[in-house]
Parts: sequence; C-alpha cells; structure tokens
Amino acid sequence: MDDDSCFDGGCTCGAVRYRMTSKPLFVHCCHCRWCQRETGASFALNAMIEADRVLLLSGEPEVVNTPSNSGKGQKISRCPRCRIAVWSNYAGAGDAVRFVRVGTLDDPDRCPPDIHIFTASKQPWVVLPPSMPAVDEYYKATEHWPADSLARRRALLG
Ligand SMILES: [Zn+2]
Ligand SMILES: [Zn+2]
Repeated sequence: MDDDSCFDGGCTCGAVRYRMTSKPLFVHCCHCRWCQRETGASFALNAMIEADRVLLLSGEPEVVNTPSNSGKGQKISRCPRCRIAVWSNYAGAGDAVRFVRVGTLDDPDRCPPDIHIFTASKQPWVVLPPSMPAVDEYYKATEHWPADSLARRRALLG
C-alpha cells in the first residue's frame, strides 16, 4: 500500500486488483434479505466511493446485471475468472458511485460500518452496539453523513 489514504483490494484468484485512492464516502452494513442472499450470510458491507477514485490495477471485472430490492437492478462487477464480486453500482447513484465490497479489501478492518441499514430484516443473532447508527430501512445522507462526505457528494451531483 502506497500510503494511509489508499485502500487496495481484489478478488480471490488475484486476476482483479483495484485501489481506492481515498477513504470512502460512507460505509453501509446492509441487512436486507437481498444482501443476505447475495453474500450467503447475514449482511453486506459496502464502502460507497466515487467511481473515479477506484483505480483498476489489473484485470477487467465483468458486469453482471442482477435484480435488486428497488426493482431497478444493480450491476455487480465480478472477476471473470473466480467470479468474486468486487463492487456494485445501483440504479439510485448510477455509475458515478461504486459500492466496494469491504470484504475484498486487503485490510477490511479499516472500513467498519458507519451505519446499519434495513435492520428490519436483520438476523436476530446479530446484535448491534447501542450507540451504532441504525435504521429500519434507508435514510437521508444529510442526516448521517459527515460534512466532508456531503461536500464530495455535492461535487459528484454537480
Ligand atoms: Zn478472480
Ligand atoms: Zn441490502
């Protein structure tokens, strides 16, 4: 890793390698049933970041159109060899924002969740710390994001 503000990651076979060139905008821990099914586990951990802050170091992810909770679909970028998903783009934020799968970072411990979403369908054994921001479904960025991330969001939306 070049410096502390960079976050490198990749797929399991090593064909796809990428670098986030800054810290993410915000990190979602999503407990919706769709994320549970896609991960085969209890939640997904997604680091939202501007697409132009994700550099592809090697490989070329294959984009798979996949149904989503919103009904508008999501594009999941997967390694063409091992099929591990490295990030998604959702209809809401479009191609400008990538939802990087935190578990594919070399050091996922550096991106803990900023908020837990869709906790209405959280598996009951997952117990959240009482001080942790959590919402039944979704939320407004202006109510939860830090000022610097909101400024980056404004720049993105033009
Ligand atoms: Zn791979
Ligand atoms: Zn979800």
